[in-house]
Amino acid sequence: MRTIISGGLIGSSGGAYRADVAIEDGKIHQIGCDLAPGDHTIAAGECILLPGGVDVHTHLDAPSLGMVSADDFRSGTIAAACGGTTTIIDFCQQEHGKSLAAGIEKWDNKASGKAAIDYGYHMMVVDLTDSVFEELARLPQQGIPSFKLFMAFKGGAMIDDLTLVRALDQAKRSGGLVMVHAENGDAAHLLQQRFLERGLRQPIHHALSRPARIEAEATARAIALAEVVGAPIYIVHVSCKEALEEVVRGKMRGAPVIAETCTQYLYLVQEDLDRPDFEGAKFVFTPPPRTIEDQANLWRALANNLLETVSSDHSSTNFRGQKDNGREDFTLIPNGLPGIEERLTMLYQGVVQGKITLDQFVDLSATRPARTFGLYPRKGAIAVGADADLVVFDPDVKWTIKQERLHHGVDYSAYEGQEVRGRVRDVLLRGKVIVEGGQYVGKPGEGEFVQRAAYGTPQ
Ligand SMILES: [Zn+2]
Repeated sequence: MRTIISGGLIGSSGGAYRADVAIEDGKIHQIGCDLAPGDHTIAAGECILLPGGVDVHTHLDAPSLGMVSADDFRSGTIAAACGGTTTIIDFCQQEHGKSLAAGIEKWDNKASGKAAIDYGYHMMVVDLTDSVFEELARLPQQGIPSFKLFMAFKGGAMIDDLTLVRALDQAKRSGGLVMVHAENGDAAHLLQQRFLERGLRQPIHHALSRPARIEAEATARAIALAEVVGAPIYIVHVSCKEALEEVVRGKMRGAPVIAETCTQYLYLVQEDLDRPDFEGAKFVFTPPPRTIEDQANLWRALANNLLETVSSDHSSTNFRGQKDNGREDFTLIPNGLPGIEERLTMLYQGVVQGKITLDQFVDLSATRPARTFGLYPRKGAIAVGADADLVVFDPDVKWTIKQERLHHGVDYSAYEGQEVRGRVRDVLLRGKVIVEGGQYVGKPGEGEFVQRAAYGTPQ
């Protein structure tokens, strides 16, 4: 079976160009002009042909505060596909007192038979005993070369500096990459308690109890500890100028720091948590959204290649029946927001508005995430020999983001009413059309687990 995608502008981190693409056996077989016809032709016309999006930060079917995400692997990955993402790396959670292997088995059960796109795991480590450290050392060989640790959430997943530095040292020796949620958990906890004592319990107090300096302090500390042991470190969801400054300072010293921001920090602000009728709860996630000035700083950082990835941190709980739980106390609002489907389109608005180039958009949404997490060159670029994960993206369609147009399983979009330009038309996963004209036409379960290469493997 040979499929030809003809006439599109091929998006690439190294510059766009016009060519046809031939697909055979699920791989990109040829790129060129006037290719021999295939069994099937997709005319790309005036569309851009993008490498399938790689979203390296999602939480599907994940437990939180005694609840479980609104999206499981079925609805979450169908939404991802419709939004132009063909690979996710989901956070596989260790449970307190249990092994990492038990967490992986649980995640395999959640994903298999349901995933509409390819997926890998990061290991979310919450209980670092000596035996867990031994398991951690073997994870890169199992195709899971990244582990996430939390410097926040006191009394829950929060770890101390000794544990962090041990994990960094371990990762360095075994080809792993430590990812950190960087916020000073002690300070956040103290501020939270102060608000609760004073009876200040609204969604906005979630944001006010986690000021930018709390994030910046932990970011600086994490980078310094990584530097001390000479290990690479990945800072997840950088939200503000203060944390960004620490990332840039680290890079200037030569510290091996890689940093991510997420769609929501480019578009949402702290005031969103103050929306009436408890609507602010829809925007309770951690770190909280900041200011317009922070957004401008993040866009400039993306334009100057100071941040490597833009992820969704998709972590969906319903406004009704889940976020509701915290009506009387913001600390009981499950954290997180949906965005797996909106990510690509929202980031593309940066191209429309001239904030980033098309090349940077491709790099941030697909190529760099794939390179950072051991998926490249199989994923993340349109190149001969790569998986034929492709998105036919119409850059001229104007539309409005509305809940009823989305495919996720949660009851709201954080970007409701946003007028945008550019829309995903067709999506191919390993050569097979899974989205056609914006509608999902695939079969849940055809997504496969992807073994990723150890960090630092030559690409
Ligand atoms: Zn997350």
